[in-house]
Amino acid sequence: MKPSGKNYKRIVVKIGSSLFYTAGELQARNIFEIIRSIAGLIREEGKEVVIVSSGAIALGMKLMGLKNRPKKLPLLQAAAAVGQNELMDSYREFFGGLGMHCGQILLTWDDFTDRKRYLNAKNTLLKLLELGYVPIVNENDSVSTQEIKFGDNDKLSALVAGLIKADLLINLSDVDGFLDRDKQVIRLVEEVTLELKSLACPSRKQSCVGGMIAKLEAAKIVMNSGIPCVITNGRLKNAVANSVKDPAGVGTLFASKKSFKARQHWIAFGTRTKGVIYVDDGAKKALREKKSLLSVGVLRVSGNFSCGDVVSIADKDNLIFAKGKSRIASGELDKVKGTRTEKEVVHRDNIVVLEE
Ligand code: GLU
Repeated sequence: MKPSGKNYKRIVVKIGSSLFYTAGELQARNIFEIIRSIAGLIREEGKEVVIVSSGAIALGMKLMGLKNRPKKLPLLQAAAAVGQNELMDSYREFFGGLGMHCGQILLTWDDFTDRKRYLNAKNTLLKLLELGYVPIVNENDSVSTQEIKFGDNDKLSALVAGLIKADLLINLSDVDGFLDRDKQVIRLVEEVTLELKSLACPSRKQSCVGGMIAKLEAAKIVMNSGIPCVITNGRLKNAVANSVKDPAGVGTLFASKKSFKARQHWIAFGTRTKGVIYVDDGAKKALREKKSLLSVGVLRVSGNFSCGDVVSIADKDNLIFAKGKSRIASGELDKVKGTRTEKEVVHRDNIVVLEE
């Protein structure tokens, strides 16, 4: 059944950098249109909206006179620090003009892996919604190092949607949706398959790190959180309002699936993996049949992980098809790989198969 707009009460809207800033110019009119539409949903229809906004680095680059996206982390972080301020200034001005206020929340990956911080972020977001302030979320780019980085706001928006148990994620960018080989928008996606992924190509833009692959990965996270997601063009007239009314009509709708249980969700998406265990075909088959991973099926190990860490599990062709919590540290596993031991490497309750 196609979900109807009135079911979507709590909505996350992700706004991509290119909507904020294109070809050296702030896209003020376009952004204001989006904000006006969001304000309408909140005030006239009683919706709760959280915005996940990119644009800090793009705006920072402009203000600092940087032509290319900095490759060195300190300069990139400096650009984010300068730009984030400017970004919030725009939101403050636009929402202020409509008699509304917003609040800034900057997150890193650590805020999702640490349960206390996770609950804290959730409570702050829910409190802002309850009080009628519009939360504006971005990655805390100016402090996040490689280890604690999301890397793109597509993923961040998917995790935020799961965090607050949103009813819909609207991913606004400068494309009309997910396109097939004939450049036609695919209206409905029920499964993010490998074939679908092969249609996506990474973005080459200077100030955007997203690209379609990132959007697909993010869609997969939200779908498995039991939340539908729409990818559409933020430049279309009434893109936000129409996405709420008829998500498949304005772009690509990624239908929600039965939500992973909290534990599976955390293993699959909620924490950074520390390494990869490569397995043979027999072990791959066993994992798909919901059996445990045994050392005899392990071909090789990469990364440095301890007992209890979450790792990726890949087949002999290097395709990551599952994630799991290892019972054996990488060093020890390397010694027993390919041999029969008593110990299970990953218990079946701690395995999530991602690609069938
Ligand atoms: N957090 C980055 C910024 O605000 C953008 C990341 C992204 O576009 O996905 O500039």
